[in-house]
Amino acid sequence: MSVKCPFCESEDTRLHLKLKDYFLSLEEFEIHECNECKLLFTMPRPDATAIGKYYKSEDYLSHNEHKKGLVPWIYNRVKKINVKSKYKRLCKVMHGQKSSIHNFTELLDFGCGVGDFLHYAQQKGCEVMGCDLSEDARKIASEKLGKTIVTPEEIFALPHSTFDVITMWHVLEHIDDLHNQAEQLHRLLKDNGRLVIAVPNYKSYDAEYYQDKWAAYDVPRHLNHFHKESLENIFKGKFQLKSIHPMKWDAFYISMMSEKFAGHGNTFIRGIIRGWKSNRKARRSGEYSSLIYVFDKI
Ligand SMILES: [Zn+2]
Repeated sequence: MSVKCPFCESEDTRLHLKLKDYFLSLEEFEIHECNECKLLFTMPRPDATAIGKYYKSEDYLSHNEHKKGLVPWIYNRVKKINVKSKYKRLCKVMHGQKSSIHNFTELLDFGCGVGDFLHYAQQKGCEVMGCDLSEDARKIASEKLGKTIVTPEEIFALPHSTFDVITMWHVLEHIDDLHNQAEQLHRLLKDNGRLVIAVPNYKSYDAEYYQDKWAAYDVPRHLNHFHKESLENIFKGKFQLKSIHPMKWDAFYISMMSEKFAGHGNTFIRGIIRGWKSNRKARRSGEYSSLIYVFDKI
């Protein structure tokens, strides 16, 4: 029996991969591909009440800054470098400059986690606002920024044309209702606004190498898995794709995690080698482990 695409509702879909939640529950999931809109989607999709338990882990690093061990240490170091490079990328995207954003840009970081990127942008002079589903993350981020981080529902209640730029760093893959999300992002951005979206790339070399053990599939937390075509379809009529940029550090971290899922030893060294190879191959193909997509509001 074919499975219905959660975005375009086409039944012209096919099984892409069977895999497990290697990170936490070890439960089995499937990823299907829609032949119509090209979206890859996780099945079954836990609903809003059921998904919470899959995030309840001491190991969920994006919300855990004080864990000890080599992989968390690397994760935190890379995160600091990443924050800076995200900001540089944003400046380039907004004004073609490397180091500053002018005129107190109104920035929304949707799914801001513990707020590191927002904190950096705030220090650089942006007018920042953040939202996150996780109450714990909101609390940490609110303290860091000295201002309240709200829920997505509160953001959706804001008036239209509020922001110059909206960033979503590895967030869209977690969102169930892509129709509503696209609608809201379009509504919240000012007329010349820009949308910056970073997502893992399942067409990268590391994804193809690790297959079902590729850590960035991260089912069932990742409900969607994107590539250029599916992203353009989701934002059709609302946003125009302007440019695509690499996130080179992700190849290393994702490869290390994938090595762990595959049950190998020496995850650090093996991850470095595989990540390096992924980046080297992507220099030609453009298929980096993670990609940043920049869209203009139509
Ligand atoms: Zn579809």
